[in-house]
Amino acid sequence: MTRSDPPPASEETPEESDAPPGLDLLIDSAALAARVRRLALELTEAYEGRRPVLVSVLKGATLFLADLVRRMDIECEVDFMSISSFGSGGASGIVRIEQDLSGNIEGRHVVVVEDIVDTGLTLQYLLRVLAARHPASLEVCALFDKDVRRIVDLDIAFRGFSIPDRFVIGYGLDHDELYRNLDALYAVTDIEALVQEPARHVPSFFPAAGSGR
Ligand code: 5GP
Repeated sequence: MTRSDPPPASEETPEESDAPPGLDLLIDSAALAARVRRLALELTEAYEGRRPVLVSVLKGATLFLADLVRRMDIECEVDFMSISSFGSGGASGIVRIEQDLSGNIEGRHVVVVEDIVDTGLTLQYLLRVLAARHPASLEVCALFDKDVRRIVDLDIAFRGFSIPDRFVIGYGLDHDELYRNLDALYAVTDIEALVQEPARHVPSFFPAAGSGR
């Protein structure tokens, strides 16, 4: 399938002053919303009359999925899987299914909705598992693509943004389960500092954090 090329996430704009210290604002909420709308339109056109099943991988892709389906103008279903990766940063490509789909996808048109594709190993494994269940078709819709890091060949039919090789948080993506609820995508400038202190950026985003606990 031929789709519109994704825009690269700019390293210059929007203004970096919008980001708290230690973070660069890579993609603001307006740009995210515009791109998600565009992807929803592409899916609507591609799957009209086919009632696709959108398979989302917990937990990171849930915000993207929720925004995406609300912009789709066709019948569609959603289903969820939960997986865990082994090896450093999932680099082994060995993945275990923690929670499987609730429905049977045999003969169905399946779209895997992913938040971010990095090396591609996780997605490659997932696609193999799903393909073995004999869907009528199987495509990928990924919002963020760190394509410079790819080590396996993958066909991503619906791509949101090509992003640089930086650790990112926000819009579903976490560090140590924090920051998923940010409405924009931020790149972490000092990952070591964040590893030492996972909540270091919490006060910048949520000044009242801690007062209610
Ligand atoms: P892959 O198997 O493609 O190397 O890894 C994909 C998984 O790694 C993603 O689903 C995500 O969980 C995690 N990941 C990769 N890059 C990032 C990143 O920059 N930020 C966050 N929060 N997770 C990432």
